[in-house]
Amino acid sequence: MQPASAKSPTVTRVLNGELCTGCGLCAALAPQAIRMESAPPGYARPLQIGGVTPETERRIADSCPGAVVEPWQGAPNTHPTWGPWRRVMTGASTDPKVRFEASSGGAISGLLIHALESGLVDRVLHIAPDPADPTRNVNAISRSGEEILARAGSRYTASSPLAAIEQALADGGAMAFVGKPCDVSALRRLARQDARVARHVPIVLSFFCGGMPSHGGVGRILNALGVPAEEVVEFRYRGRGWPGACVARSERRTAEMSYADSWGSHLSKEVQFRCKICPDAVGGVADIACADAWYGDEEGYPSFEEQEGRSLIVTRTEAGDRLIDSALAAGRIEAEPLPIEEVGKMQPSQARRKRLILARTAALPLTLQPRPRMRGLRVAQAAREASLADAARNLLGTIRRTLKGTRSRL
Ligand SMILES: Cc1cc2nc3c(=O)[nH]c(=O)nc-3n(C[C@H](O)[C@H](O)[C@H](O)COP(=O)(O)OP(=O)(O)OC[C@H]3O[C@@H](n4cnc5c(N)ncnc54)[C@H](O)[C@@H]3O)c2cc1C
Repeated sequence: MQPASAKSPTVTRVLNGELCTGCGLCAALAPQAIRMESAPPGYARPLQIGGVTPETERRIADSCPGAVVEPWQGAPNTHPTWGPWRRVMTGASTDPKVRFEASSGGAISGLLIHALESGLVDRVLHIAPDPADPTRNVNAISRSGEEILARAGSRYTASSPLAAIEQALADGGAMAFVGKPCDVSALRRLARQDARVARHVPIVLSFFCGGMPSHGGVGRILNALGVPAEEVVEFRYRGRGWPGACVARSERRTAEMSYADSWGSHLSKEVQFRCKICPDAVGGVADIACADAWYGDEEGYPSFEEQEGRSLIVTRTEAGDRLIDSALAAGRIEAEPLPIEEVGKMQPSQARRKRLILARTAALPLTLQPRPRMRGLRVAQAAREASLADAARNLLGTIRRTLKGTRSRL
């Protein structure tokens, strides 16, 4: 038996460097030593309550997305911003209920329902509203279309789906996994050391991620809506339409705020630093990644009030292609091809951030801060599209904010 050291050096370094994504994998790898908690201003963070063995430390160091990001590989095409791809489409669930409840066109939920019904998987590991506090998230296992529908919709606050992975793998069977791009990176890294991942997780879905806001973002929204946090009985970040309003319901009243306001004026102000330097915010190592297929303004907000939802769907692996083909054939989703050049018009803020990752991360060693290993993610190639002025502004801005301790405001 190897002796346990006091704390995981990787977790300590990642926390000190503000590189934690909150995925929860370290807590799954070292349940006696690490547990996830909500740390001010409301990010999911590991709390170290015991020592880890050298072997566990090695596993954490090799999979934590604050330490290393899984490289893109395998697909016949790779775009420097949009990642590996086989097919790019726009589409939606053919079930009007799913399409309405979901975040975009319900492609993820439609594919999950089909994966269950076709027998590809017997369950889904994903995120659900916390019954004890509907503004927060819990990990959930869904085994039916009704459960998947109840968990549809984007929830723009901390989630740690990997905290549940050890138990889910130990339970056996076949599951679909849905997570943020960083969660999926962590899962792929885990698969390098744990053969159970390939055996029990035949399909991995993700979405384009603009960054994870702290739970403080919800506080700002509730303040603006005048709904006391302790009275909230239901909270929808969006969905029920496209983009769908942010809705807070208490026993006394229902208040809502537009997507442009909730994301633009509140949630986006609370995004954690790690997301500002994310080299793969497009779910590049998922089997399929989905996003909003809207044509919007420069900042990426939709140029319409409300419409029927439409998802951008990018297949990245053969497993992703097989699931799409099978869901199309079964009539569970509808989709049509989209030229990859169109994606930039739908996701301008993703494109801008990717161009600036090199400049932002170059600031980290200059200020003696750690940075995640991010090879094989086309960071340098994407940076060629940035103007010199933009790159310089971001390099200097990251240095200045690092020295002032205000990096989340990048
Ligand atoms: C933090 C965040 C940032 C995002 N940023 C962008 C962006 O920049 N551009 C863009 O186009 N799209 C972004 N999205 C994704 C977008 O809102 C839709 O989720 C995506 O288009 C899929 O839509 P859908 O209708 O297919 O999904 P649905 O059918 O509604 O399914 C959504 C699935 O995501 C899971 N989920 C919801 N919230 C979380 C969470 N916090 N963590 C892990 N899993 C979760 C649910 O459990 C569900 O299975 C973001 C989503 C989140 C949560």
